[in-house]
Amino acid sequence: MSPHLPILREVFGYDAFRGPQQDIIDHVAAGGDALVLMPTGGGKSLCYQIPAIARARNGLGVTIVVSPLIALMHDQVGALHEAGVEAAFLNSTLSSEEAFDTERRLMRGEITLLYAAPERVTTAKFLGQLESLRERGLLSLFAIDEAHCVSQWGHDFRPEYRGLAVLHERFAHVPRVALTATADALTRADIVERLQLQDARQFVSSFDRPNIRYAIVEKKDATTQLLRFIEREHTDEAGVVYCQSRKRVEEVAEQLVQAGIRALPYHAGLAPELRQKHQNAFLREDGVVMVATIAFGMGIDKPDVRFVAHLDMPKNIEGYYQETGRAGRDGLASDAWMAYGLQDVVNQRRMIDESPAAEEFKQVMRGKLDALLALAEATDCRRARLLGYFGETYSGQQDSGGGIYMPYCGNCDNCLNPPEVWDGTDAARKLLSTVYRCQQASRSGFGAAHTMDIVRGKLTDKVRQRGHDQLSTFGVGADYSEQQLRAVLRQLIALGALNVRSEDGFNTLELTDGSRPVLRGEQSVLLRESVTAEKTSRSKSKGRTAPTVAAANLGQEAMVRFIHLKAWRAEVAREHNLPAYVIFHDATLAAIAEAAPQSLADLQGISGIGTKKLEAYGEQVLQVCRAS
Ligand code: ADP
Ligand code: ZN
Repeated sequence: MSPHLPILREVFGYDAFRGPQQDIIDHVAAGGDALVLMPTGGGKSLCYQIPAIARARNGLGVTIVVSPLIALMHDQVGALHEAGVEAAFLNSTLSSEEAFDTERRLMRGEITLLYAAPERVTTAKFLGQLESLRERGLLSLFAIDEAHCVSQWGHDFRPEYRGLAVLHERFAHVPRVALTATADALTRADIVERLQLQDARQFVSSFDRPNIRYAIVEKKDATTQLLRFIEREHTDEAGVVYCQSRKRVEEVAEQLVQAGIRALPYHAGLAPELRQKHQNAFLREDGVVMVATIAFGMGIDKPDVRFVAHLDMPKNIEGYYQETGRAGRDGLASDAWMAYGLQDVVNQRRMIDESPAAEEFKQVMRGKLDALLALAEATDCRRARLLGYFGETYSGQQDSGGGIYMPYCGNCDNCLNPPEVWDGTDAARKLLSTVYRCQQASRSGFGAAHTMDIVRGKLTDKVRQRGHDQLSTFGVGADYSEQQLRAVLRQLIALGALNVRSEDGFNTLELTDGSRPVLRGEQSVLLRESVTAEKTSRSKSKGRTAPTVAAANLGQEAMVRFIHLKAWRAEVAREHNLPAYVIFHDATLAAIAEAAPQSLADLQGISGIGTKKLEAYGEQVLQVCRAS
């Protein structure tokens, strides 16, 4: 038995370690360095919290937790207090007296976990304080959370993280654990180098999130599609909707509100107080939909986010996976839904082209974008592709006929509802040769809409003016719909067989080296037939396996208790100024409601009730249950 199991049970009230937690905790508590790669929701926090508690109990002093998220430190520390752990934070939201008081407790060795942002940790003053703690044997461990922030290949680069190498230089004998949910090989190598973790043991977990259902739909009218998705699957449930720009965020939030959904905007353009207010509402109230730019979400540990929707395509798979990973931390069924269209491809390419970054950097970014495009265009299991991107082979398979085994997860759109595939090779050749002929004839490039008009034989003013009705490809694809051609163009761009060039605000198409094999008919282009909404929805209800709410299986009496317990919890949370789930998770309340406890002993074994919570809330919980 791990010597740390008693801490898990007593402090956090959980039965057993999850996945690799035990190995990591044993290693770090014994003073080893570690790099921990675990998907969002995998349980990273305990990987440094339990070693911190164990080491503090052995008289080794404080663990410094480096976290970029000042706005969340209050709740993180509050959650530890609820569990009876001596935790504190130092940041700019504290008054000078509060900060002074915390520093005094720190220097006396009274704090087990101290949270601070990297810019504070690396100041001369703070490093001096650490030095003094170390001299007295009271500097136990460094935990570097969100470690991918150190890498410019990650999607949340924070220059302040670079300064953290100083911890190793000045405190070589103090163990360090770095944790992240971003794990592509490039970022991982960069973290090791930047933080000088060459000798650290690496713990890489499976990145699979089996309770999340992935779906990527073709974008038509994105907001309407989103509304239907929410109404069909997630009425009154908490979710996050990601949009590219601040303006889009405002528009979409407004439209959702008009449709009767409790939606709030979040982006870097809002005043800090308003941002914090919206974040608190999302964390503290039930069923809020946050419409946000990617400025929102890091470190948000709300367990019952039931869906994450992307109305615009992210930059790469790391970003997509991290953002979608914020759904379903409680392990219950959740959705990752994205609407994706030609314009997304064009926009993302343009942003890379127009960025002032070095060419080498742009090349890496293009490669990453291509991988995401391939995921969006895929006709096979999305989960297998996602995991493949992180270097993991998905083991689930199914005979797809004739003894050919294909990856199959049973919980993504392509597995649940295999798309009809049509051969777009002929349409692709017609589009590519039109791009070629236009360029020949007019010595300049043209955009997607004009190219499709020529192929479909539409006599627009522009076509006439340019004389493009004289091209040999004019009207050769009259039997294709615009939607079909659009899909082919998207696929060609995703394949790298066509490039989008932007100049003076105009996007023009141009051929690439990759165009040739398609033009010659050596490479075929297979496309997904667009799926209609009803089709997806039918398969959704059919395919749902896990319940989406913790209380789904409660009988009538237990449900009454559950409702009363929730009301009680809301009151306690308000008094403590903390999110309700910090007091007890829904799953814990549901288990209590089910157990109909008569005594404190009945409460003891329930997952999520540690010693401190039993002591603080046990009697109240029993009273609520008796009165229900
Ligand atoms: P991460 O930081 O990796 O995204 P968290 O540390 O927030 O994930 O953990 C996700 C959720 O899982 C939290 O609600 C946490 O309380 C819960 N959890 C973590 N480890 C265990 C465990 N061993 N048993 C039960 N629940 C756990
Ligand atoms: Zn699948």
